[in-house]
Amino acid sequence: MTACVFCKIVTGQIPATRVYEDAQVLAFMDIGEVNPGHVLVATKSHVEDVYALQDAQAAAVAQVAARVARAIRAAFAPDGLSVYQANGKAAGQTVLHYHVHLVPRHQGDAMAFTWPVRNPPRDQLEAHAARIRAALGQLQGE
Ligand code: 5GP
Ligand code: ZN
Repeated sequence: MTACVFCKIVTGQIPATRVYEDAQVLAFMDIGEVNPGHVLVATKSHVEDVYALQDAQAAAVAQVAARVARAIRAAFAPDGLSVYQANGKAAGQTVLHYHVHLVPRHQGDAMAFTWPVRNPPRDQLEAHAARIRAALGQLQGE
């Protein structure tokens, strides 16, 4: 699956700002969003959609998503957080590699969110990711 953007991120062929990684799951900053805390949690292996997701992968993604969500809450104190997953082209999925969106929300936000809106500079992404990583470490140590 050399054409898949997220597979290339997993192997390092395409740079991404990493938040968390283990044997099965990679969490990294989304580059094309209005929201600076927007994190994508993806399987490391190429799973096209929710239908193809194995139980262990589903559990692993959900666990990492919950932990990173708590870290985003600790780091940015949003009013809420959307856990979002497009599934299939007709549902708006643009990268056909299984992933969940973590999108911190603030009261002033529009209800519907759209992307991509802008490309935050890499150093800004790294600063956001560093805050989330620090919060993850803190929460893990509790
Ligand atoms: P989908 O539309 O499939 O639910 O979400 C795909 C997401 O991947 C989009 O939010 C898009 O901004 C993000 N994305 C696409 N290409 C890249 C990339 O090269 N790097 C990063 N970090 N995110 C990407
Ligand atoms: Zn892939």
